[in-house]
Amino acid sequence: MNMMHRPQPAPKAPERFFIGGRWLDPISRQTLKVVSPVTEELLITYPEAGPADIDRAVAAARDAFDRGPWPRLPPAERAAGLRRVADLLERRLDEIANAWTVQVGAPISLTRKLVGQNPTLFRYYADLIETWPFVDERKRDDGGRVRVVKEPVGVCAAITPWNAPLVLLSYKVAAGLAAGCTIVAKPSPETPLEAYILAECIEEAGLPAGVFNIVPAGREGGDYLVRHKGIDKVAFTGSTAAGKHIAAVCADRLARVSLELGGKSAAVLLDDADFAAALPSLMVYTMPITGQVCFSLTRILVPERREKEFLDLYLGAVSGIKVGDPLDPATQMGPLTMARQRDRVEGYIRAGRAEGARIACGGGRPRGLDRGYFVEPTVFTDVTPHMKIVQEEIFGPVVSVLTYRDEDEAAEKANNSTYGLSGAVYTADPERGYRMARRMRTGSVTINGMIVDPKHPFGGFKQSGIGREGGPEGLENYVETKTIHYA
Ligand code: NAD
Repeated sequence: MNMMHRPQPAPKAPERFFIGGRWLDPISRQTLKVVSPVTEELLITYPEAGPADIDRAVAAARDAFDRGPWPRLPPAERAAGLRRVADLLERRLDEIANAWTVQVGAPISLTRKLVGQNPTLFRYYADLIETWPFVDERKRDDGGRVRVVKEPVGVCAAITPWNAPLVLLSYKVAAGLAAGCTIVAKPSPETPLEAYILAECIEEAGLPAGVFNIVPAGREGGDYLVRHKGIDKVAFTGSTAAGKHIAAVCADRLARVSLELGGKSAAVLLDDADFAAALPSLMVYTMPITGQVCFSLTRILVPERREKEFLDLYLGAVSGIKVGDPLDPATQMGPLTMARQRDRVEGYIRAGRAEGARIACGGGRPRGLDRGYFVEPTVFTDVTPHMKIVQEEIFGPVVSVLTYRDEDEAAEKANNSTYGLSGAVYTADPERGYRMARRMRTGSVTINGMIVDPKHPFGGFKQSGIGREGGPEGLENYVETKTIHYA
């Protein structure tokens, strides 16, 4: 691999914050850094928003909500604005894919495929609000008229992680703006570039000043934003630890909150499954973006009597994964995104060994890749359900293969988790797959594959979150119900 990885053109460091429809110079003097996961070199240094910048952004969003036209526009007019944003994003998809790959280390072949979800989300919510029942006409028992109306929840903070920076922001911004909310976005400090592209598109689309604002910051800035009395709702994607903290802070003033958190999802291969047919989707979804995706299928459950057959197939494929420069279109797996991510993943690999699990493949750093946060795709066998590597979210390319004797045990093992985000069932009989899917305590399950589709709800049971993003349910995150009686 060419270790002279130099993203071309080099990303331009953002210099200002988009607040109240203008590009404002920072008040804070603090800066943030983006480091290349491939070369470990500093890519950009850019300003971090401090409390005074965040105050300005919240004030602008507040003003746009309380006095601006956006929340009160007919839905069709908001829809037209969202479609303009979608068209502008569409023109910049190469740039968005490149920014994702360069900051995160996600293979360019994958990011190019996925970036279309961003304009899709804006168009989907534009279409939805043209027919969605914002006003529902009802009757009381006494014959009186009632209108149950859905109103935007207010000024929303959108706080997003680094692994899929724009898609996770688009879910929130497209649905929130469609509902009539205004937004203060705090992107992850490691991956600011796409939020800036979105801000430029929103500006060029001519959306009213203050409906969308960005304040890049780290954890402290996020905490300041969440505590801000001007924020009516927090939409958060990130770790379960941070999600619990945010929920507790919001509880104090009963600010609305939706949380998309971590996962430890199971792929259940039933005894009639065609393993060869299951392999392509398992190869993509057990370790997508080097395993740094919340819905990764990191626990594979196979029938005891077919374990060897499965391992022969799966381990052969995993050891053949092409790890390398994510800008190379032939690469299937890039590095982890940050040094701290690699430390974390290597810590879990050590913990797995110490607890007595067997490394069936991987476990180290790939040969010939001495720079960059690379680790080998790793599969553990001989694991027991209580082990740390089975219970905790590793957020890296580390998968555990567990066995089961019958379907009851498969369901029990699949549900033996504090998380409940996603899952998959592989079987020759889709109705049998459906029955197993109904037993799994998770927010989504795919039968014979893995599908996450922004037009359908996604989110978690248990400690994987509260609320759903995507689909009509994603719009409901951003509305309050008001009942108007005619006496
Ligand atoms: P993180 O929780 O550390 O950070 C996420 C975002 O929250 C960042 O912008 C960060 O600056 C901010 N933040 C952190 N602590 C905060 C606090 N106390 N108050 C306010 N803001 C705070 O998570 P991460 O390491 O960036 O991302 C990885 C995690 O995200 C994984 O656990 C993964 O499963 C989860 N994730 C979930 C989904 C989903 O849809 N369920 C999608 C992607 C990632």
